[in-house]
Amino acid sequence: MIEVSNVRLPLDAGLADGESLERHAVAHALGLDSSDIVRMRLTKRSVDARKKSDVHFVAAFAVELAGETERAVLARGAKGQARLKDLGDGDDAFHPLRFNSSLGEYRFGKPFEVPPRPVVVGAGPAGLFCAWALARFGAKPIVLERGDLAERRMQVIDCFNAGGPLDPECNIQFGEGGAGLFSDGKLTTNIKNPRCKDVLRIFVHAGAPEEILWQAKPHLGTDNLVDIVSSLREQIKRMGGQVMPRTRFEGFRFEGAMLTGVRVTDPSGGERTIKTNACVLACGHSARDTFEEVRDAGLLMERKPFAVGVRIEHPQELINHAQYGAAANHPALGAADYKLAAHLPDGRGVYTFCMCPGGEVVCAASEEGGVCVNGMSRFARDGENANAAVLVGVEDRDLPGDDVLAGVELQRLMERAAYDASGKTYAAPAQRVGDFLTHRATSSDAGARNPVRPSYARGVAWGDLRDVLPAFVADSIAEALPQFDRRLHGFASPDAILTGVEARSSSPVRIVRDKETLQAHFANGALCSGVFPCGEGAGYAGGIMSAATDGLRVAEAVMQAFKKERSGV
Ligand code: FAD
Repeated sequence: MIEVSNVRLPLDAGLADGESLERHAVAHALGLDSSDIVRMRLTKRSVDARKKSDVHFVAAFAVELAGETERAVLARGAKGQARLKDLGDGDDAFHPLRFNSSLGEYRFGKPFEVPPRPVVVGAGPAGLFCAWALARFGAKPIVLERGDLAERRMQVIDCFNAGGPLDPECNIQFGEGGAGLFSDGKLTTNIKNPRCKDVLRIFVHAGAPEEILWQAKPHLGTDNLVDIVSSLREQIKRMGGQVMPRTRFEGFRFEGAMLTGVRVTDPSGGERTIKTNACVLACGHSARDTFEEVRDAGLLMERKPFAVGVRIEHPQELINHAQYGAAANHPALGAADYKLAAHLPDGRGVYTFCMCPGGEVVCAASEEGGVCVNGMSRFARDGENANAAVLVGVEDRDLPGDDVLAGVELQRLMERAAYDASGKTYAAPAQRVGDFLTHRATSSDAGARNPVRPSYARGVAWGDLRDVLPAFVADSIAEALPQFDRRLHGFASPDAILTGVEARSSSPVRIVRDKETLQAHFANGALCSGVFPCGEGAGYAGGIMSAATDGLRVAEAVMQAFKKERSGV
């Protein structure tokens, strides 16, 4: 078996009947005839759009040739830019859904039962993947989720988008699926972790399209995510786990430095304690009350870098043409994306984040009296507009006060200013880029005539975003937009829309955990036995992939702790 990578493919190879083009390209790269290929499988594909006049795919394949042909090809090498690698005899490449050693039997041999059951707080990507792995090991986890199950959550959000009240317990941040449910479902990540492959496999086992296994920039879309999340939940239940919606974690019970239970509020509002000596805290970055509880319980937390800003919207057509030139709208390409960054002379970083091709801007608030925005897309990414966050790095000197949660306070102040600016209606304050750059408020008339229409469901309140944003944020964005325009023509076009505020792109705090056991520390440095901070809210992830991967990693750590306890070490 060999891997042939860096194979150039025409765009038509990405169409439904493109298999013969792939076969031809692979045979050409190997200097063979198509009939010499016994079998082959696509393992990676990305778009090369560096030259707008020559947009094409670059791909890698696992290929099986007759024994002696394979040896000869490996000896003489591939043609042109293509590269070869000997994959040996194993045919794993042709079984993409097989788990690697860690999830096959995991590291613990046969599953074993460990009373009392571990509790996982939060059913976002971190909590769900952690619970899935714990359930697979036989640990029968209990998952506490303050919001509704995914299907019901959709209805709650539809009701809000149609003008209903904000439910502080069930919204774009809270509810089964976590912040990732109403997302573009981008599965790209910068982390290098062998568990990433297993995360993709688990997604496919739960109903995600298999192409996420070979796409360079896979995404799931909100529409797929709802089914995938409910399938993960059913798998957890079938393996002995339990998922408790509308059940909020309120605090810990300790005996000395040992966790003995967690206090919860159930759907009827009653408080009770669940006995446990392992609690995975995967509460996400918006659980501000939970952060306060963690701080007040004496656990060690620290501030961490984060960023705030606005969402920008352009017509998707503009982005497609800027990125793909004449190839824009080729059916194999889909909606184009982008990623831009600028380093300003005063040392501030400004960058685009969480770009949603063909998506819409959504209200990502979880507190009454606050507006904040984010972006989501459906799998087809067929919306009229492209949107992305434009974020500015926050420094210590920007924070109001010395408390470890001062970053949360900055977010809250911005969200309240946005709510007030929009007439306390959950509309989002918005401004045309042309007006923003020339320090002019956008009038309602000018907004209504603007060719780019805002996608935010609750409507926008046109005005001046400088009334809402801290000065360092507004000034930095104004400085970066023309720079971005030089890299992506049309980015700072006057008709593009800025919508505010984007305050929750990442967690402003970290709950410190031990590097080896992944358990928390008390502020006095002692190990807090049984509390496992996990995912984005705890400061160990940023995005769906890294949160899910951290969930798997923490599940392994919980099982190691149980194993140690059982063997009395
Ligand atoms: P979360 O997903 O935030 O989950 C935490 C869960 O804990 C929530 O369900 C919450 O209800 C629950 N919870 C909180 N407190 C309690 C409590 N006290 N008791 C019980 N339950 C509690 N990332 C990407 O990689 N790709 C994208 O395309 C993308 N798009 C996004 C779009 C939007 C609109 C948003 C908001 C985020 C997006 N992100 C995206 C970020 C991504 O969703 C997060 O990085 C990821 O969800 C973090 O996972 P998590 O499990 O750590 O936390």
